[in-house]
Formats: sequence, structure tokens, C-alpha cells
Amino acid sequence: MKIKIALAGNPNCGKTTLFNDITGSSQKIGNWPGVTVEKVEGNYKGAKDVQIIDLPGIYSLSPYTLEEVVTRNYLINDDPDVVLNIIDGTNLERNMYLTTQLVEIGVPMVIAVNMIDIVNKRGDVVNLDEIKKAFGCEVVEMSALKGTGVKAAMDKAIEIANSKKMPEPKIEYSEDVKAALTELEALVPEKYATSKKWFATKLFDSDKKLTSDFGIDAGIVSKGKEIADKVAKKLDDDAESIMVNERYDFINTIIGKCLSKQEKGLSVSDKVDKIVTNRILGLPIFALVMFAIYKITFVVGQAGSDYVNDNIFGDGYVPTFLNESFEKFEVAGWLQGLVVDGIVGGVGAVLGFLPLIIVLYFFMGILEDLGYMARVAFVMDRIFRKFGLSGKSFIPMLISTGCGIPGVMATKTIENEKDRRMTIMTSTFMPCGAKMPIIALFAAAVFNDSTIVAPAMFLIAMAVIIMSGIILKKTKLFAGDPAPFVMELPSYHVPAFKNVLLKVWERVKAFAIKAGTIILITAVLLWFLKGFGYVDGKFGMLEEDQLDHSLLATIGNAFAWIFAPLGFATWKSAVATVTGLIAKEDVVGTFGVLLGEEFDEENVRPLAVKVAEMFGTREVAVSFMLFNLLSAPCFAAIGAIKKQMGSAKWTWAAILWMTAMAYFLSFVTYQFMHAATAGFSVLTGVAAVLTIGFLYLLFRRNKYVTHTNEKLSAK
Ligand code: GDP
Ligand code: MG
Repeated sequence: MKIKIALAGNPNCGKTTLFNDITGSSQKIGNWPGVTVEKVEGNYKGAKDVQIIDLPGIYSLSPYTLEEVVTRNYLINDDPDVVLNIIDGTNLERNMYLTTQLVEIGVPMVIAVNMIDIVNKRGDVVNLDEIKKAFGCEVVEMSALKGTGVKAAMDKAIEIANSKKMPEPKIEYSEDVKAALTELEALVPEKYATSKKWFATKLFDSDKKLTSDFGIDAGIVSKGKEIADKVAKKLDDDAESIMVNERYDFINTIIGKCLSKQEKGLSVSDKVDKIVTNRILGLPIFALVMFAIYKITFVVGQAGSDYVNDNIFGDGYVPTFLNESFEKFEVAGWLQGLVVDGIVGGVGAVLGFLPLIIVLYFFMGILEDLGYMARVAFVMDRIFRKFGLSGKSFIPMLISTGCGIPGVMATKTIENEKDRRMTIMTSTFMPCGAKMPIIALFAAAVFNDSTIVAPAMFLIAMAVIIMSGIILKKTKLFAGDPAPFVMELPSYHVPAFKNVLLKVWERVKAFAIKAGTIILITAVLLWFLKGFGYVDGKFGMLEEDQLDHSLLATIGNAFAWIFAPLGFATWKSAVATVTGLIAKEDVVGTFGVLLGEEFDEENVRPLAVKVAEMFGTREVAVSFMLFNLLSAPCFAAIGAIKKQMGSAKWTWAAILWMTAMAYFLSFVTYQFMHAATAGFSVLTGVAAVLTIGFLYLLFRRNKYVTHTNEKLSAK
């Protein structure tokens, strides 16, 4: 017989850390809520016939969020053998709120007080016996991160699963509520007999999903409501709030008994938070931190990239070795060209940026695991709210700095449909890992390797997202109050090396797989398309200097005019823009194939020099970079957008919005920069008019603003 152990607990209590530890898998761990949305299953390393289910983190078993619904439906309908309720020992009061509900659901249960390492370090003591008395089930302590107490917790869970011992909670409700609950229990259908305590409380709450999710007769629900209403009237409050209050009252009585806190002033963590979440300092500190990260990344990562480019690909030993071997074995010239110029040129150009990716995501992983990113989300919420946006939108943005696909997926947790759509439409403006090579290439080509380009792009992307939000919120389609964003700040802790490495590995793997598949295929395809064409009406293989007659040039020229107002109407940049849709790294790969040959040995970064040469002036290069970084994301991300939007119409809206924003911003940037050096033209005028229009959309009065919103923005 297989034993099913379900892990349940608040967001960020350490469930996934435990899950990974006991199953040996590597699910994503994030030091912010909302990382695990679906349940994940695995086998216990210690015993094959034990199955572990990592449920999404929740604060309550109410029907309001997707995570809560997934979890409670699982607990009621799938009959796990035991629930291992993980509670964050540094935050007992809030975590126990869920416990008060879990113990009533009628499943054998064990409570594991996690993060005991932090509790002990603070000098606090948790009295497990008192918790056991209150909830009537076994209680253990552990540190999922350090691995202490994990085995004991699992043993206990298995023991309770086998003995099928139900919890016997001693939750003390007030007289009126207690009487009502007893009455309500009698209404619960026979098939939910073991869970009748929980269903009684849900009837008391008039839970909206009782009928749809559990097939409880609408008649019973309304009878339940009558009973609850009587109590509500008597106590002069609504039924749901009464329930919440009673549970917290109970928790407060036991907290006093089970937790002895070391008396001291503000903890170090609180002191740090006072500064990093400060109203005025919060944002500048975040900007500084990001700047520092990108700075280190570009200094260390670029040195690594240069090494790779100079010694391995580019001019390095791979092409030299290949050329020599091809010559030795007298391989056909075209094949040599394909491998050396096409594949090594294209794929190598992209792979050269791998060291940069490693360094960047190493630092991002540290920041996140440390707990800092959660603070940033908190700071951003305050700023977003001023513009009618929710801080919940910031988490998808943050995830998008790795890859837009999980970023878009993370919007699932935004319940408000308008806000969710808006977030999907804007998250992928963020510079993801695949865009890093573009940024690095252009920083080298036109900005003298300035380390400010990357953080600048990060800030520009955030500004574009905020501006998009402001503009969209003022239209009927997106109007409405921002969803409240409740996020408690996790405790800081020393980053776990394993978690950080896992994050780096995830990015490296994605990067390498893409280089070996999509980018390789495009490189080969591009190489062929540029090698053949019509010269004087005759189709055939082209000479080196006939590139402009190639099929690729013909294709590129067919739509290069679209980019004329942005300053880069050449076929090469048009082709690179299109391949960028296949994968953003392909922008660099395409340049690698098209410009990569004849490296000049004097130059450290041959490709960057070629790119600079190709664009001619800095404004053209800047315009190209802006457009490619902000326009529609790659096809894979568009696929994710389609999945989340669940509608072709909205997917197109997202693509159009991003592309239009990118086009507009590149256009005005190019035209104004161009005017500064070459004087005004008609197009400068057009750019000026468009800018005024844009500013109008940004600053016009919001017809849809509501009172709560006004109050919030006044704060
Ligand atoms: P989940 O949201 O419940 O799945 O929580 P995670 O497993 O993603 O963990 C949230 C954060 O808490 C991560 O940064 C973990 O490294 C950290 N964490 C988890 N368990 C412990 C623990 O026992 N001690 C300490 N100090 N940190 C922990
Ligand atoms: Mg998790």
C-alpha cells in the first residue's frame, strides 16, 4: 500500500525546500510567496512506497484564490493518508491560522515547526507540548534548510498515516458559535462525515464553492446561512469575520503558552527592513543594488565572455582547429564554410555569453534567497499602487528577468482578470537572460563596454511597464482598483548555496539547449540563405562579395522599409529582428553568421566592432537595441502568453501593445538623437507630435478612479 503524505502550509514556510530534500528533486524554491501554484508529486527517498505531494502555499482554506481551491479540493477529494502541516516557527501566529482549519478537515495530521534554526538563533523557545495539546495531534520541530529533524518528521508522519489517528483539536469557540456549529454539523452530508467539523465552519461562512466543488445541496447551504446569520446579527458582525476572529482569539491564547520570546529590541532583520523598505530610500537602494549586480556581472562575466570568444570560438581554437582539420582531410569548401562560419559563427557568438549568464544569475539567486527580493516587491507595491497597479504584478516581472515564460505563468496568482491581463501584456518588457547577449553586444559595440547599459535597460523596462500600466488603467478595458497585495516579509537568511546553484543551472541549461537547437538551426538556415542567390538573373552559389544578392538579402529587403523610420532599414538588421522572435539570443547569432567572418586579429571583440560598423552611428544602434529588447518576446513566450490569456484576441493585443510601445520608443529616441546631430526634419516633427500624444495618454485624468483609489494615492 502506498502512503500519500501531503505537505500543506503558508507560502514561504519551507514546503518546497523540504520536498526537494526528501524526494531528491529540484523544484523551484523562491523566497517569496506564489512560487508553487500547482501541486507537485514525488517519491520519498527513504521509502519507495511513500508518495509526497507539495501543495501550493496558502494562508487559509477559503475559496478566494486558485492556490486555496487547489489545496482544499485535494485534501477533501483525494484523501491523503496524512497531512504534514509545515509552520514557520518564526511566525507562529499567522501560520497557525491555517492549522486551525486543517485540523478540522478530518485527515490524520502532523505539525512540523520549521525554521527552528532561526528560532533558536534568536534565543526563542517553542513549546511543542503546548501546541500538541491545543491541536490534538503530533508536533515535531525541524529545519528543512539544514536538514535537521527532517527524518524524524517523516517517520512521525508515516507512523500517523499507518495508525490513521485523527487530530482532536481543542479549538474553543464562543458559546453562540459553538452552538451554531453543532447545529451545522448535523446538516453535513453523510459522505463528508469525517470532515464534518470543517464543512460546518464552511456552512457558517456561506462558502461560495460548496455546491460547485463539493456538490453540497444549495438548500443546505442556505439553511446554513440562516443559522449563521442569526449569530451574526446577535454579535453584530458578519459571519466570516466572526469565524476569523474566533480562530485568532484561540491562537492568541495558545501562543502565550507555546512561545517564549527572548526579550530584546528590534532584531537585526527588523532594523535592516526599516532601511531597505523605507518610503524614500527603498527604491534608490534597489536601483543601487541592481546597478551593483549588473556592474559585477559585466566586469566578471565579460572578462569570461572575452576569454571564450578570443580563445574558443571567434578567433580562437575551435575555428582554427576545424579549419586545419578540414584542410587536412580536403573537405569540400562549402561544408567548411557552413561549419566554421555558419555554425561556429552563429552558435559560438551566443555561447560566448554563457559566463555572463552564469555570473548574473548567481547574484540574482543570492539576492532572492537572502530574502531581499521580497522586500523589493513590497517597496514596489507602494509605488505601483500610486498608479493604480498592484504589487502582485511585480513578481511576474521579477521572474521575467530570468525568463519571460515562467514570468507570464506566474501571473496565475493575480485574481483580478484585468490586472492579470495587463501584467501578462507587460511582464516580458523586462530584460530576460536571452536578451543579455544583445545588451552585452551593444554595450561593447557602441557604449565602450559601459556597465551602465544593462541596469539602464532594466530601469527603462520597468518605466515602460509602469507607463503601460498607467495608460492602460485609464481605459475602460483595464479600469478598476488594484487588488490588495498581502505579503509578509520572510526572514532573512544566509543564502543556501544549493538553491542559488539550482537557479544558475536552470538558466544555463535553457541557454545551452537553445544554443544547440533553435540557434543552431537558424544559423544553418541563415548560412544557406546567404550563400545562394540570383546574380545577373542566374541562380547559384554566391561569391564572398555578392552577399547583397543573396536570398536572405532579398527576404530582408522585402520588409526592411518597416524600420526606416527607426533608422535601421538594412536587410541585415531586419533579418536579425525577425530571428530575434525565434529566440532573442538569435539577434546576436544572426550577426555572428552575417558579420562574423574575417575577424580582425587586433580587436578584442571582433563581432562588436563589426556591429558598430554596420550600424554606422550610435543612434541607429541604440534604436535597434531598444526595439529588439522591448518588442514582442520570443515565440515560446508568446506561446505562454496565449496559454495564460486563453484567447487569441488578447494574445494579439499583447503582441501589438509591446511592439507598438517598442516602435514608438525607438522612433522618438532615434529621431531626437538624429535631430541633435543632423538637424530637424519632418520626422522630428512627427516624433514631437507623437510624444505629446503619449504624454497626454499618460497624464490625462483618470475617469475611472474610485474613492478607495483616491484615498490610497493621497497617502
Ligand atoms: P514554500 O513556499 O513553502 O515552498 O517555501 P520554500 O521551500 O520555497 O522556502 C522559502 C524560503 O525559506 C527559502 O528561501 C528557503 O531557503 C527558506 N527556508 C526553508 N526552510 C528553512 C529552514 O528550515 N531554515 C531556514 N533558515 N530557512 C528555510
Ligand atoms: Mg513552494
